[in-house]
Amino acid sequence: MIIKPKVRGFICTNAHPAGCAANVASQIDFVKAQGAVADGPKNVLVIGSSTGYGLASRITAAFGSSAKTLGICFEKPATERKTGSAGFYNAAAFDKAANAAGLYAKTINGDAFSNEIKAKALELIQADMGKIDLVVYSLASPRRTDPNTGETYSSVLKPIGKSYTSKNLNTDTLKIAEVTIEPASEEEIANTVKVMGGEDWEMWMDALQEAGVLNDNCKTVAYTYLGDKLTWPIYGKATIGKAKEDLDRAATALNSKLASLGGQANVAVLKALVTQASSAIPVMPLYLSILYKVMKEEGTHEGCIEQAYRLFTEGLYTATPRLDDTNRLRMDNLELAPQTQAKVEKLWEQVTEENLLDITDFKGHHEAFLNLFGFESQGVDYSEDVNPLVEQTFV
Ligand code: NAD
Repeated sequence: MIIKPKVRGFICTNAHPAGCAANVASQIDFVKAQGAVADGPKNVLVIGSSTGYGLASRITAAFGSSAKTLGICFEKPATERKTGSAGFYNAAAFDKAANAAGLYAKTINGDAFSNEIKAKALELIQADMGKIDLVVYSLASPRRTDPNTGETYSSVLKPIGKSYTSKNLNTDTLKIAEVTIEPASEEEIANTVKVMGGEDWEMWMDALQEAGVLNDNCKTVAYTYLGDKLTWPIYGKATIGKAKEDLDRAATALNSKLASLGGQANVAVLKALVTQASSAIPVMPLYLSILYKVMKEEGTHEGCIEQAYRLFTEGLYTATPRLDDTNRLRMDNLELAPQTQAKVEKLWEQVTEENLLDITDFKGHHEAFLNLFGFESQGVDYSEDVNPLVEQTFV
C-alpha cells in the first residue's frame, strides 16, 4: 500500500515502516559517529524502548557500548490492511539492525505495568543475558492497571490549585487561541501519580533485585522534565509534575535498596522535545515551536539521540556527572540557559497566528511530529508501494 500520514489532532493514526526504519538507522549512525561510550553498560533493560527517549537510550547502549539489550514496549502490530504503530516498526528495525551487528536484542511487546510482563522479562534475562547493569525507565502512558488490585487509573494534564489560561496553538488549524484548563481534583492528582509516578519503577527494580539479576554497581535511571516559567503551570507544577516528584522519592528509596550492590538510582532531567507523549500536552506544541527556533539559531538544538548520548557520556558513565543538588542528572542545561529562556519568553509574548511561521519554527516542529511516525524521513520514497507487515521477533 501507499502510506500517507493520517493526522488527527495531536496524533497520527498510521506509520510508515520504511520511514521508521530510516529514523532508527539515522540514530544508529549518529551514535556510531560519536564513538564508544567509555566504560558503558553491557547488559541493559529499557522499559519504554520503542519510541522517543527510551528508543534513543537503547540505541546508545547497543551501538555506543555494544550492550545486549532487552526492550519492553506496548505497540500496535501491523495487519495486512492497517499499519502498525511507529514504535512497532521502530522496535522491529532496531532488533534487526542490532542482530545484524552481532548484538543480542530482544523486545517484549506487552504491558510493562503487569506482573506477567515483568515475569517474562526476568525469564529472558536469566536465560539469555546474565546480570543487568543498567535499567532505563522511560514509560509514558495515559493509564495504568495496578497489577495487584486490577484497578485502572488514568492520568490528567491539569494545573493544581487554580485554573490556568494560556495561549495555545491548534496544530491542525494553526489557530492560536486562549485555552483555560481547570485545576485537577485531589483524586485526579493521586491518579496521575499512580500512573506516571515512581511506583512501577520501584516494582521493576524490586523484581529484578529479588531475582538476583542486578549486577554489582548497577545503575537505573528514570526520565523527567522540569521546564521553566512558561511550562510550569501545565507541567512542572501541575499534575504531571507531582507524578514526576514521586520519581525523586522512588530514586531515594531505590538508592537505599541498591546500596548492598553498590548500585545507583537517578532521575534524569531531559529537554523538551517533540515525541508522542509531549504532543498531547496543551501549550507544549507552541512552546516547542519557539524553543526549536531559538535553539536552532543558537546551534544548541538537540533531538532524543543527542540527549541520550549526552546522558550516557555526561551523566551515567563519567566520573564527573552533571548532577544537581537533589541528585538529578541534568541534561536540560541548554534549554534552561537563562539567555535561551529569555529569548523564548520574548517570542512567546510576540507570537500571533499571522507571524507564527516567521518567528517560530512551527515548520520544524511539524516535520519532527510527522517524523515520529516515519514520514518526511530522508531517503524514503513515499510514492512506493510498501508492505505494512514487517518481519519481527517480538516475545
Ligand atoms: P514516548 O511516548 O515517545 O515513549 C513512551 C514509551 O513507553 C514507548 O516505548 C511505549 O511503547 C512505552 N509504553 C507506554 N505504555 C506502556 C506500557 N503500558 N507497557 C510497556 N510500554 C509502554 O515518550 P517520551 O517522550 O520518550 O517519554 C519517555 C519519558 O521521558 C517519560 O517519562 C517522559 O515524561 C520523559 N520526558 C519526556 C520529555 C519530552 O519532551 N518528550 C522531556 C523530558 C522527559
